[in-house]
Amino acid sequence: MTGDDRPLLEGRGLTKRFGGLTAVNQVDFAVQPGEIVGLIGPNGSGKTTLFDCLSRLQRIDGGRVLFKGTDITRASPHRVARMGLSRTFQVIRVYRKMKVLDNMLVSRRWRGDSYLRVMRPSSAETVCRARELLEFLRIAPLADEPAGHLSGGQRRLLEIGMALMPNPDILLLDEATSGVNPTLIETIKDHIRTLNGQGKAFLLIEHNINFIADLCTRVYALNHGETMAEGTPREIMENEAVIDAYFGA
Ligand code: ADP
Ligand code: MG
Repeated sequence: MTGDDRPLLEGRGLTKRFGGLTAVNQVDFAVQPGEIVGLIGPNGSGKTTLFDCLSRLQRIDGGRVLFKGTDITRASPHRVARMGLSRTFQVIRVYRKMKVLDNMLVSRRWRGDSYLRVMRPSSAETVCRARELLEFLRIAPLADEPAGHLSGGQRRLLEIGMALMPNPDILLLDEATSGVNPTLIETIKDHIRTLNGQGKAFLLIEHNINFIADLCTRVYALNHGETMAEGTPREIMENEAVIDAYFGA
């Protein structure tokens, strides 16, 4: 929480180009403290690139990003993570040969840290936090399994756990339900609600419109890198431009 009514995370005129392609074009958005906001759009509309810009994995070509009122347009990924912004990836990134618990422990330190620092033993406090999060996510019995043994849905949960290790104020989840069975999707939804009840904000890239409708207060729809609509889930689902972009010829 920032303690006032300025947005927690805000993009102003955010632009990202890859050569001649403008993947994100003049996008404005804001997430308030404790809000759950959806980000939808057809494949290739720039959603993941927007996350890459916000988590500072990609250089930003135009516009600004503010987090807790601080300009992070040129901050390092490491710094942004320490400030309280965490993300997961569309293509799951866990160390498949490493135990589930060890994935949780390295996640705490990998962002921009040296190999030696990452590999040093974790404090008892960090191990305790990792175990608590695995309990919360209901994957604690798998703590000593190699992460490669988990199902797609369980790996998504692990990735959420890894993103939670630094106790972020906002989580950016990139297609957290893709490749996940319906039961686990409900579990993920419950976890998001619980964490949101503890004050954490979310920005969710999703194709699962029911998931969006159940969780989000507001949704942004991107198309060709531009914001084509913003509104409540219902407004977005009834928006003709959105329907056209998804289902149009
Ligand atoms: P989405 O997540 O909405 O499916 P992306 O952000 O992955 O869309 O991609 C947006 C556009 O940017 C696409 O045309 C994609 O091919 C392009 N793109 C994404 N990442 C790169 C990259 N690293 N280099 C070149 N082009 C990229
Ligand atoms: Mg994507």
